Amino acid sequence: MKNTQDLNEFDLEPVSYCPKCYSLKIGYIPGVDDSDYCMDCGCVDIARCQIQDWEKLYEDRYGHKYVVKRNSFEGHPLWNLSVKDLRKKLLESPYYREIIREVYPNWNYYGKAVDTIFLFFDNVVNDRLLPKLKKAMILRQRNKEL
Ligand SMILES: [Zn+2]
Repeated sequence: MKNTQDLNEFDLEPVSYCPKCYSLKIGYIPGVDDSDYCMDCGCVDIARCQIQDWEKLYEDRYGHKYVVKRNSFEGHPLWNLSVKDLRKKLLESPYYREIIREVYPNWNYYGKAVDTIFLFFDNVVNDRLLPKLKKAMILRQRNKEL
């Protein structure tokens, strides 16, 4: 029962994808907003949709299903969010302080939430800790703590 519910919530997460080749491998340039690009074909016009819509687009184009591994980190929609969307997500979370401390155990700046989270993301991108942050956020989302 719990799994079905998790899956439904999970499926409501939008994914970023390349509208030219439908790749989910979206990169970004650290420190530059709106710098998302497709790591497979270089397209910079990145689109978003629900994961199940993307799976349908992919199947229509390529004639076979690409089933996203929903239990892996890399297959989770949060993994494919842009820095900007991740930041928005963290800003909406009542647990943002705990998540910040998971990435930086000695973090000690707590101003207004928006300032704190912007500073935090600058550090995360510069220190190349996005994968660590994404894992922390995905684990919390699975425990309904995001
Ligand atoms: Zn592409």
